[in-house]
Amino acid sequence: GTSTAQARSAELEQLIRKDPSRFRVLTGDRPTGRLHLGHYFGTLHNRVRLQDLGVETLVLVADYQVLTDRDIAENLKEYVEELVLDYLAIGIDPERSTIFTHSAVPALNQLLLPFLSLVSVSELNRNPTVKDEIAHSRQASVSGLMFTYPVHQAADILFCKADLVPVGQDQLPHLEITRTVARRFNERYAKDRPVFPEPEALLSTAPLLLGTDGGKMSKSRGNAISLSADADETARLLRGAKTDADRRITYDPAHRPEVSSLVLLAALCEETDPLQVAEEIGDGGGAALKRRVTEAVNTRLAPIRARRAEFAADRALVRDVLRSGNARANEIAERTLREVRESMGAAY
Ligand code: ATP
Ligand code: MG
Repeated sequence: GTSTAQARSAELEQLIRKDPSRFRVLTGDRPTGRLHLGHYFGTLHNRVRLQDLGVETLVLVADYQVLTDRDIAENLKEYVEELVLDYLAIGIDPERSTIFTHSAVPALNQLLLPFLSLVSVSELNRNPTVKDEIAHSRQASVSGLMFTYPVHQAADILFCKADLVPVGQDQLPHLEITRTVARRFNERYAKDRPVFPEPEALLSTAPLLLGTDGGKMSKSRGNAISLSADADETARLLRGAKTDADRRITYDPAHRPEVSSLVLLAALCEETDPLQVAEEIGDGGGAALKRRVTEAVNTRLAPIRARRAEFAADRALVRDVLRSGNARANEIAERTLREVRESMGAAY
């Protein structure tokens, strides 16, 4: 569960600090819209921190996975560009980290075939995140891709033998599938010389940030505050955020999820303690809380937004970043695929 993963994340943190070169990170996002504060505090901030500590970092633009919950990938080119700009704006440095797209790395996707043979249909059926996403899906029926995308994600992570995955809470069941795939592959085909590590999740202190409606903040649920929104839009969105009838502001995530999530957001932005933020607002009520959060978010995001605008002005930048990232990811993927074929006895 989440608390075990959080305890393990704290241990990992120590190990990373001791020797960052021991680890390799892979994470990614679907190009389904602009990145939001849930991404930022759930995973992006950690990615930049790891990169800056010297951990080798790969960041995937999961363009094929856009199709898990919709029939066509609308505005794909635009969304991919937005995503890369978001990465650059928060501090992912393409000189040190590899930013690449699914569709440009065929060898990665080829791993899906042997990997699918390593999991059972009932294991896929049990995945709670997939169930939740099916419930929010725009499609009338569940596609094969929706059902199997956690295995595709195993390929994303294992193609580069990543052992550390900074993610939000919703990804924990997927990471279990990845670990199962790695373990079974090694057991079946590579007993003497394991091909894959069993990667571990690195959770942040905000593994599930809620959106303005009190549900998980998500790009596709209309409840998100995007990193690239301007100060006025941010204020408007937060004015419309759901609160509750209790005038006194407290921090009590179990009983007051909406209010607590706003308190937490202010605390994260200010790098303070949510209990203290709630205490300071006290009887000021929902209006004071929203003013405080708006101020905190806009202050925290101002430099990111300014950097983003600078990067956006350079038309060739995104293309160049992806071109070199894709080239590097292809080299890694080819090498791993060759090893997989050899282990399976399929190399000539
Ligand atoms: P979509 O609605 O299109 O699925 P999303 O907002 O859920 O978009 P993803 O691209 O699915 O975003 O997730 C990317 C990463 O961000 C994952 O590691 C996920 O765990 C993390 N993440 C997404 N939303 C949140 C959130 N609200 N709180 C914390 N982490 C989050
Ligand atoms: Mg999602």
